[in-house]
Amino acid sequence: NRNQIESQLYAMDRANVRSLLVMTGDYVYTGFQGRPKPVFDIDVMHVVQLIKEMNAGLEYKGMKGTIKHQPSDFFAGVAASPFKRTEAEQMLQYFKLKKKIEAGGEFVVSQLGYDVRKIHELIQFIRQQGWDLPVVGNIYLLPLGAAKLMNRNGLPGCVAPDKLVADLAKEAEAPDKGKEARLVRAAKMYGFLKGMGYDGVHIGGHGMTYDQLEFILDKGEEYSKNWMDYIHEFDYPIPGGYYYYEKDEKTGLNTDRPVERKGRPLDTPVEFTYRLSTFMHNMMLEPGTPFWGPMRAIAKAVDGTSMEKPYHFFEHMAKVALFDCKDCGDCALTDVGYVCPMSNCPKNQRNGACGGSWDGWCEVYGTKKKCAWVRAYARLKDGGKENKLREYIVPPANWDFYQKASWITFYLGMDHTAKRIGVEPVEKKK
Ligand code: SF4
Repeated sequence: NRNQIESQLYAMDRANVRSLLVMTGDYVYTGFQGRPKPVFDIDVMHVVQLIKEMNAGLEYKGMKGTIKHQPSDFFAGVAASPFKRTEAEQMLQYFKLKKKIEAGGEFVVSQLGYDVRKIHELIQFIRQQGWDLPVVGNIYLLPLGAAKLMNRNGLPGCVAPDKLVADLAKEAEAPDKGKEARLVRAAKMYGFLKGMGYDGVHIGGHGMTYDQLEFILDKGEEYSKNWMDYIHEFDYPIPGGYYYYEKDEKTGLNTDRPVERKGRPLDTPVEFTYRLSTFMHNMMLEPGTPFWGPMRAIAKAVDGTSMEKPYHFFEHMAKVALFDCKDCGDCALTDVGYVCPMSNCPKNQRNGACGGSWDGWCEVYGTKKKCAWVRAYARLKDGGKENKLREYIVPPANWDFYQKASWITFYLGMDHTAKRIGVEPVEKKK
């Protein structure tokens, strides 16, 4: 949880670790005597915010006043993936990247992938937003086995289309089993990443030797001089995939014109629950709506009395029926298009999709369940409001409110939404 992450960060600071890549991470699958409890207490934005505060000297209220910790010295980066097939997933990646940078991310590392147009899209998108920070490309010495695994979605977030797998299979027939071809591919990636304006590269691969690394760097420098001549070799699109920019037919890369998103079909249908939720929202959940005053007065009247329990029971049952509510008491429904992230997202993401979704499906549930955020995107896009999902950073759930009526924490000005929209706090009864 957040306390453990903070203490691990201080331990790393003492060990002189400086550069950190902050990521959501995989779901938990196996452990001692069974599956471990998944703990997704805070997300990337929150960790980056924590690091930023630690670098300035984190302050806590102690018994004898404010305690200021010795400042840490971290350089925290974040990840981004341009390799998503659906519009919803891709835009959610970019929305989340905006939040990660606003939170304090100081560099960006790309997810690995081999579709040159997508690789170009990411750097162009970042520069077009005016985000002036180092961007690191990702090079992975890809063997056939790993490509096949990615092709069947066995490595969350990593994409290897059929065409790439077929090319690797052909290369694997060579006497060296495709070793040289892999190295040349990596060097060529170095070349075009540099040519496109990436500031650095992350080079990975199992069992890579120093000589191989040196080959990639030296050859890559040579390739960077004529990178446009061979980029057609990296034409590995995901069939039917969404691109942020219109294609530049001359180069096979992107023009600087974003694709018109309005009018593109939704990636998943909008459920009736959302229409009902927005109706209720417009009736009572914003100051100035018809039932705002009475709802606030009721919350005030029942708080701390014998009526609080039945009030909480009624509210919770309604929310379980509609949203599979987990009773966190710091409700994030309005932040996620009325999809509860505590029950519908196994990683409890409150600020955007993780990098593991695939073709609109959840990394953890596979084709049994759409990603909670893809549903949220479709719901908002239906009304032309999808950009709302990038507007602000939602704080982590405050566990002070766990199993407390969220209408009380909201109407009495205590929860994160009340604070964001400026609901005046109500004095607690003595
Ligand atoms: S619901 Fe979406 S964000 Fe949550 S774990 Fe699944 S893929 Fe990731």
